[in-house]
Amino acid sequence: MNRRESLKLGALVAMAAPAFAAEGVLVTADLMFDGRRFVEDAAVLVRDGKVVRSGPARAVGGASARKIALGAATITPGMIDLHVHVTRNHVPFDRVLRHGVTTVRDLGGQVKGGPQGPGRLRYLGAGPLVTAPGGYPVPLYGERMAAVVAGVESARRTVSRLVDEGAAVIKIALEPGGEPGAPWSGGHATTPPPWPMPSLEEVRAVVREAHRRGRKVSAHVGEERGARLALAAGVDEWAHSPAAPLPGDLLKKAALQGVRVIGTLDTQARTKGAIANARTFVAHGGTLLYGTDMAHPEIPHGFDSQELSLMTHAGLSLEQALAAATSLAGEHLGLAPLGTLRPGAPADLIAAAGDVRKGHGGVKELEFPLLVMAGGRTVVTPSGG
Ligand SMILES: [Zn+2]
Repeated sequence: MNRRESLKLGALVAMAAPAFAAEGVLVTADLMFDGRRFVEDAAVLVRDGKVVRSGPARAVGGASARKIALGAATITPGMIDLHVHVTRNHVPFDRVLRHGVTTVRDLGGQVKGGPQGPGRLRYLGAGPLVTAPGGYPVPLYGERMAAVVAGVESARRTVSRLVDEGAAVIKIALEPGGEPGAPWSGGHATTPPPWPMPSLEEVRAVVREAHRRGRKVSAHVGEERGARLALAAGVDEWAHSPAAPLPGDLLKKAALQGVRVIGTLDTQARTKGAIANARTFVAHGGTLLYGTDMAHPEIPHGFDSQELSLMTHAGLSLEQALAAATSLAGEHLGLAPLGTLRPGAPADLIAAAGDVRKGHGGVKELEFPLLVMAGGRTVVTPSGG
């Protein structure tokens, strides 16, 4: 390249640079939780639906991007709720999104949640619960919520069909019923407990077929028998911290086996076991993840700060609890770096007023975010912004 060509190229770059750099949005705030840790005086640069960079504002750049300067606020990744029933109960998706949850995994409802994309709630569904004839949830909700299996081959075929229909995860019910205080023990069942559960061979067949098709298995467990069945069959996850108190050695075994436990602690606040089991499980190094059973009447349609507080009562630090609702949840879904603000992550982020580390009011603000962005599209904008 001669000098003249070089100058010409330099001029072109100079002309092109401002337009290029002006693309994207730079969000700044006094505090950020990036999915793992807190960063002060932080910024996130977003472009084309993805995070370009995040970190201390001085290192992020983006001087000519459109700016959303939030000041006294906390930026976090959009929250991921790993246990909801938003389709069964017709919870409006836009309401959930506006209240800080950008991804939901529905563990009993529709396989698909309608149109997906920028500005919409990210939806993953299990569809109906795999269960034994007459097993939970049939006594409470009838057969429309159930995929009834009878025998090993029936179990395999059912999982295969659910995956073909688009199930992101397989939910299986291992629930004999009757735990005091549990949401499913309200006395409105058509048949009294004990309810039948699938056999160990059937659960093993479910796990085998789900894994062959690249899906995890989430078990509804509420007490010891179901938990032992789930452990013996190699189920990946418990959809609840069990409602009945479990022996410590069983929870230790679950932790060592790498089972993930979705808390749903708030909806189970009146049970004897949920929080105590979660505490023992966490003490043994188990991974407790954020999920609320959203659509249960006491759970808000959006982020539930009470669930997060109860997770800290179970032994997690605030940072660990927030990670359980963001980065660890994204990893669990196999969608990392979803749930972080790392380069290349989907630009799902929210911001709450103030410092979420301060007092009880801090995390409560996450229920009423002043900014919500989903796939790079802003769905809640700061007033005046
Ligand atoms: Zn549920």
